[in-house]
Amino acid sequence: MSLNRHSPLWFGLAALIVAYVLAWGLAPDNGPGPGTRSSAVSAAPSVEARIGPDVVERAERYRSRGRRLFLAGLALQFAVLALFAFYRGPPVRQALDRAAGRPLLGSAAVGFTLALVLAIVQFPLRLAGFDLGREVGLVTQARNDWLLDVTVSALLTASLAAIAALVAVFVWRRFGPRFWIAGSALAAVGAVIVVWAWPVVVSPIFGKFESLPDGANRDRVERLAARAGVEVGKIQEVDSSRRSSAINAYVNGIGNSKQVVIYDNAIRKLTPAELSALIAHELAHVKQHDLYRGLAFAILVIPLAVLFVQVGTAAAARRSGDDGDPGGPGIVPALALMTALAALFLSFPGNMLSRSLESRADREALELTSDPDGQISLQVQLSWANISDPDPPGLYQFLFRSHPSTADRIETAESWPRPGPPDPWVVGGPVRVPGWSGGS
Ligand SMILES: [Zn+2]
Repeated sequence: MSLNRHSPLWFGLAALIVAYVLAWGLAPDNGPGPGTRSSAVSAAPSVEARIGPDVVERAERYRSRGRRLFLAGLALQFAVLALFAFYRGPPVRQALDRAAGRPLLGSAAVGFTLALVLAIVQFPLRLAGFDLGREVGLVTQARNDWLLDVTVSALLTASLAAIAALVAVFVWRRFGPRFWIAGSALAAVGAVIVVWAWPVVVSPIFGKFESLPDGANRDRVERLAARAGVEVGKIQEVDSSRRSSAINAYVNGIGNSKQVVIYDNAIRKLTPAELSALIAHELAHVKQHDLYRGLAFAILVIPLAVLFVQVGTAAAARRSGDDGDPGGPGIVPALALMTALAALFLSFPGNMLSRSLESRADREALELTSDPDGQISLQVQLSWANISDPDPPGLYQFLFRSHPSTADRIETAESWPRPGPPDPWVVGGPVRVPGWSGGS
């Protein structure tokens, strides 16, 4: 296994650079658009003035505590995974030796246990995040319902981890140094299946999805879709208000699972102009095949990730004294650690690509609605409802955020050329105060 003698560090670094180049290649050209030609920017009120200084301050406080919890959770996850990948004291050694009696089932058991341990160790941080969300009014779910959600999702994750561990160890044993080839093929097929099956299998576990009833809102979606020249698939409403007061919409699924999903909160709280801006953005994603672009990025970086996992796992197995050849339950913690590292580092270029696609979807939506004020009003509403920090710290935004900042999105809309006489169909409602939630 000469490939496995490479240094995972240098290998990982090279993979990360290639992933950034791929993300850059897949990103649309977001160069100067019509917006930059306008001179209206300087006269526009500041983003903070639009949202309200008090609201911004409150959101910054909430989000900075949320970021600390998130980063602590990430650190804890890697600490636990590293501990199990490298620590081989008597209890761990005994458990792994017992599991090695039946390598594949033993690997599944180790994968399941590891995922459960992670869920349990991270629970206090998640609880703190939940309490924080309730404190600011973003989370509307009762604690017991939330506990049920957390339990179901932990068991689901652990089951998937068990299957992944079993398959990975099988491939490791069967293909040896060519693990990465078979592993990449399986992971790519897995990614396509997950994207297809998510709306059909996983989403319904955590929400009630119903076809958006006939009426003004459905007409709005269909009219915008016709204008954009896209086929939307299913148009769904989800009962997000059961968990949170957040406003959102998204598109997911491929083939016959393709759908546009609108939060019931969005339908209840947004004006027609804001809702049009929200839907137009989602339709722009459909029109530009952004989901397929994301999937293409995933499929291109999967071989890099799996190669890194292979090289890293072999190095960790040498270090912890596990026999990486032929491989058994003992390599599962290292496989998990390397997979988590690959996923974290590849999410950085992934987010860069995503921000670029989001930025283009905003511009396409502006073209579709010709209503920059509707977009600005929507961003202000989103900022209020989702208590989002309009301008997160630069490094955090660069590494972890999949969307451009609210400040950037408002600025794009502010600099968008204003149309002549307004289209009566997209005229916005009155300016409202935060917390106001009358119908649209
Ligand atoms: Zn989007």
